[in-house]
Amino acid sequence: MSSLTNQSLCLKMALKMLVIGNWKSNGSHNLCESFIRDLKCNGNVVICPPAIYLANMVHKISCVEIGAQDCSSFTNGPYTGDISCELLKGIGIKYVIIGHSERIRFHHETINNTLDKVHRCLEHNIIPIVCVDDDYQNIIDKLSFNEQILIAYEPISSIGTGILPDNKYIDIISSHIKSFGKFKTLYGGSVTSKNIDSLKSIKSLDGVLVGGASLIVSEFQLIVDSCK
Ligand code: PEP
Repeated sequence: MSSLTNQSLCLKMALKMLVIGNWKSNGSHNLCESFIRDLKCNGNVVICPPAIYLANMVHKISCVEIGAQDCSSFTNGPYTGDISCELLKGIGIKYVIIGHSERIRFHHETINNTLDKVHRCLEHNIIPIVCVDDDYQNIIDKLSFNEQILIAYEPISSIGTGILPDNKYIDIISSHIKSFGKFKTLYGGSVTSKNIDSLKSIKSLDGVLVGGASLIVSEFQLIVDSCK
């Protein structure tokens, strides 16, 4: 059994809900230090800081894996500014967020970019966190099922707005996504300590992707505690 498969199995057995924090283009050296000093957990937590802090954070919190917010669609080579999966893997990065709606909106990324990045991750035993909106079928149809792939259902209307779909709707979408190959599913969009208890009652969900609420260690801690 590969070490990645082993790792995933362990995660699944220990897992109530996987909690992934996406700092986006936010944070500071002090925020990294406060997470390293103060966050308490017992696994099932991933933090995705901006790329310049990856090396500061990786292996610093024993119960946390560190993820990147993006990766190159190419392998190593003459791609100025790109961070390849080989480079990420080299410092111990285990997860990469791919196809976030902000990459699509501000960087015009396409489905083919997403698919290329998923392949680069899988080639390097990195777990891709593939973000999808309500048009998820366009991507999932083209993804060959692989048990490492996490699909994060992130309705654009819920990102940063405080407006969430109702649980029944999230469950329907999450179950439908699973029906394409038993993908593990996350929900993302305005997750906070106030709504996490409700979200974690959604049976088909394997975790949550947290944006704004992952930027304050005490708030993120409440979400993590609720998902134990
Ligand atoms: C996100 O954009 O991935 C996200 C989950 O953002 P927020 O929690 O801030 O809505």
